[in-house]
Amino acid sequence: MAATLLDGKLLAEKIRAEIAAEVSEFTRRTRVKPCLAAVLIGEDPASQVYVRSKQKACEQNGLTSHLHRLEGETTTDELLALIGRLNSDPSVHGILVQLPLPKGIDTTRVLDAVLPLKDVDAFHPENVGRLVQGRPLFLPCTPHAIQQILIRHQIPTAGAEVVVVGRSEIVGKPIAMMLMQKGPGGDATVTVCHSRSHDLPSITRRADILIVAIGRANFVTANMVKPGAVVIDVGINRTEKGLVGDVDFEPVRQVAGRITPVPGGVGPLTITMLLQNTLLAARLQTA
Ligand code: NAP
Repeated sequence: MAATLLDGKLLAEKIRAEIAAEVSEFTRRTRVKPCLAAVLIGEDPASQVYVRSKQKACEQNGLTSHLHRLEGETTTDELLALIGRLNSDPSVHGILVQLPLPKGIDTTRVLDAVLPLKDVDAFHPENVGRLVQGRPLFLPCTPHAIQQILIRHQIPTAGAEVVVVGRSEIVGKPIAMMLMQKGPGGDATVTVCHSRSHDLPSITRRADILIVAIGRANFVTANMVKPGAVVIDVGINRTEKGLVGDVDFEPVRQVAGRITPVPGGVGPLTITMLLQNTLLAARLQTA
């Protein structure tokens, strides 16, 4: 029997409605509208699409968003000056710097300059450290999206064997950290694989929950998946056939128990978690 779809679009709509209600209540009570400042540098078409979707989601759910567009030739110091202005602007609650930044800009210096209280992507070392210690301020958006898919579909993580393929700072590492923490949506036994792992299929086949974030179209094949496993495909790859994930969807669907589609899986929820963090940032700065 084919796996059940974990529909990220549907879940995103549900959570966005919850957030919109909370935003409305917060604004009514405080007269403050949560505001996200998005910073986009250069002309990368995919980044333009992502930023536009994030702004649209803000507008549709009662948040404000401002776009700061800078030319590709912008220097690190110019970008740091903008971040400094946004940090000290009390009407801005969240700052999002769309990645990747053009070559020549020091990404680490830029991300380190965002005030931790406005760091709605949770990339600042203080927020990463808090996550590792199990006392997060903001949860990073894509890992939080993955965890919400598991929690909201009542997929048990406690004691589950989770395999994460990919060890990036924005997906692999933080989701591994979150799923191994104590408490709801955690308590899993987590293995992290990467490009130097030996015999990947023998590891991925152990997974009750397999999370793939590597950026390689259709990489995970049916023989790499344990029958009945939950498969979360984070990958977004542009191919001649359109957007595809890191998982070879149709064959894997015949083996897995539940699976996220691409598009319409993790992606819509990632933006939803950004809205949630912007609301949280506004709350923290208004308290
Ligand atoms: P990344 O920074 O490029 O990291 C890729 C990771 O995959 C690295 O750890 C790499 O290992 C590992 N890897 C690459 N080839 C491998 C192989 N053959 N076997 C095992 N591991 C391999 O990627 P990312 O930023 O995490 O993004 C991954 C994918 O998720 C991309 O398609 C991206 O577009 C997508 N994404 C989606 C969302 C969303 O909202 N849906 C959000 C973020 C990213 P090494 O460390 O050894 O190099």
